[in-house]
Amino acid sequence: MGKVTGFLEFERTDRKYAPVEERLRHYREFVLPLPEGELKQQAARCMNCGIPYCHTGCPVNNQIPDWNDLVYLDDWRTAAQNLHSTNNFPEFTGRVCPAPCEEACTLNLEDNPVTIKTIECAIADKAFENGWLKPDVPAKRTGRKVAVVGSGPAGLAAAQQLARAGHEVHVFEKFAKAGGLLRYGIPDFKLEKHLIDRRVSQMETEGVTFHYGAHVGVTVKAKELVDGFDAVVLAGGSEKPRDLPIPGRELDGVHFAMEFLPQQNRRVSEESFDATPILATGKKVVVIGGGDTGSDCIGTSARQGAASIVQLEILPMPPEKADKLMTWPNWPLKLRTSSSHHEGATREFSVLTEKFSGENGRVKTLHCVRVDDKMKPVPGSQFELEADLVLLAMGFVHPVKEGMLAELGVALDPRGNVKADTEGYRTSVDKVFTAGDMRRGQSLVVWAIREGRQAARAVDEFLMGVSALPR
Ligand SMILES: Cc1cc2nc3c(=O)[nH]c(=O)nc-3n(C[C@H](O)[C@H](O)[C@H](O)COP(=O)(O)OP(=O)(O)OC[C@H]3O[C@@H](n4cnc5c(N)ncnc54)[C@H](O)[C@@H]3O)c2cc1C
Ligand code: SF4
Repeated sequence: MGKVTGFLEFERTDRKYAPVEERLRHYREFVLPLPEGELKQQAARCMNCGIPYCHTGCPVNNQIPDWNDLVYLDDWRTAAQNLHSTNNFPEFTGRVCPAPCEEACTLNLEDNPVTIKTIECAIADKAFENGWLKPDVPAKRTGRKVAVVGSGPAGLAAAQQLARAGHEVHVFEKFAKAGGLLRYGIPDFKLEKHLIDRRVSQMETEGVTFHYGAHVGVTVKAKELVDGFDAVVLAGGSEKPRDLPIPGRELDGVHFAMEFLPQQNRRVSEESFDATPILATGKKVVVIGGGDTGSDCIGTSARQGAASIVQLEILPMPPEKADKLMTWPNWPLKLRTSSSHHEGATREFSVLTEKFSGENGRVKTLHCVRVDDKMKPVPGSQFELEADLVLLAMGFVHPVKEGMLAELGVALDPRGNVKADTEGYRTSVDKVFTAGDMRRGQSLVVWAIREGRQAARAVDEFLMGVSALPR
């Protein structure tokens, strides 16, 4: 344990944001790192609980009290080794994870959990700055070949673990660069993309070969991978967006969030794209959907110079504070306000959009109604909202079935995800495994990393009979 009285002596402090007017002028990250002295004090607040609930809150089971102690003792290098023993990419989770660990922290019973995510990010960044993260090149090669489809966090974690186990790993990615939603969904202001490039070059040195523009099931036959490799891991994400099939859906100016966000990420990294540009500049923007993707649409619209931004959520407004005695240490239902919400959006809850209408084929108006707790329209509560751009951010229903999944004929679960359990990660097709959003449905970066790691171990056991990879 760091400092026995740390949690009594030091108040929780966390990273602050650059002022709104300043950060809206660019797409770079705007979270201000804590100075080293403050990080050590924050790590000293960890009580090293007999039962560290934060371990179970964290999907990759990061050994949080151990590295808090090491940071307090100023042994950042051992802290980085420990952190990387459970998490391949802590520089990603230290930026974009919603930190279920902090909800599970015992100090959260008093609303002041240890700033776990900030400390994790600082350890990862320091490890890179100091050149402690050397590529982990395997001493012995197994002669086995594995194909990984998709280079999101699940595919990257699986590929890195398998390469470190000595297998020849090839990643097939339909886009021009690696990262999946880390690269093309999550905006640069939350995660700058040079962080992904840095990991990709580490993985290349470890022996992973990346094939870009390789759309399996479209430009590359899925069966060729099954025939040419000893195992195949499907990590293609959950890319089918939930639609809103109401009158006027076909009007210009109504788009899925994932038609809008990747364009801006590509603009920032100067990657060309063919589609007609979708821009919020000078427009009245309405975002339908109250989650993370919706928040990212708000932050991106604000940076593009939207005239106004309204976010609509069909569910009622959650309570401001969690009912700790009912929920702790689990993830609670409470109102979550992201940095993007502070950048100029109005939020409306319990609102259903019944129809879009427009002029000359372009959207102009949303016709809405308020709904009760059972999502039944409240009589007489209809209202209209003006809009030039409507972004649908209502989540994703399942992976794309056409192409790769149809060609392979893998069995799907009742929700339409690829069917496999979390012991073997094996699909119904011999030699074919699956991990991440493609298996579990739309989720989080940290869950994708966990699944990629666990699937890698399952593949290694399948190929070698035993595996020394961690689960
Ligand atoms: C806008 C947005 C913001 C988000 N923000 C956060 C956040 O802040 N924090 C968080 O934890 N989670 C967030 N998420 C969720 C998180 O990004 C995903 O849960 C996670 O990326 C899933 O990882 P994955 O590797 O399973 O799939 P993905 O990241 O979706 O990667 C799948 C990859 O497979 C490729 N692919 C698919 N099919 C094929 C094929 N047939 N051939 C070749 N390549 C293929 C895709 O191009 C893609 O690169 C967000 C999601 C979105 C959409
Ligand atoms: S990965 Fe997420 S849950 Fe795990 S320690 Fe980091 S911030 Fe917490």
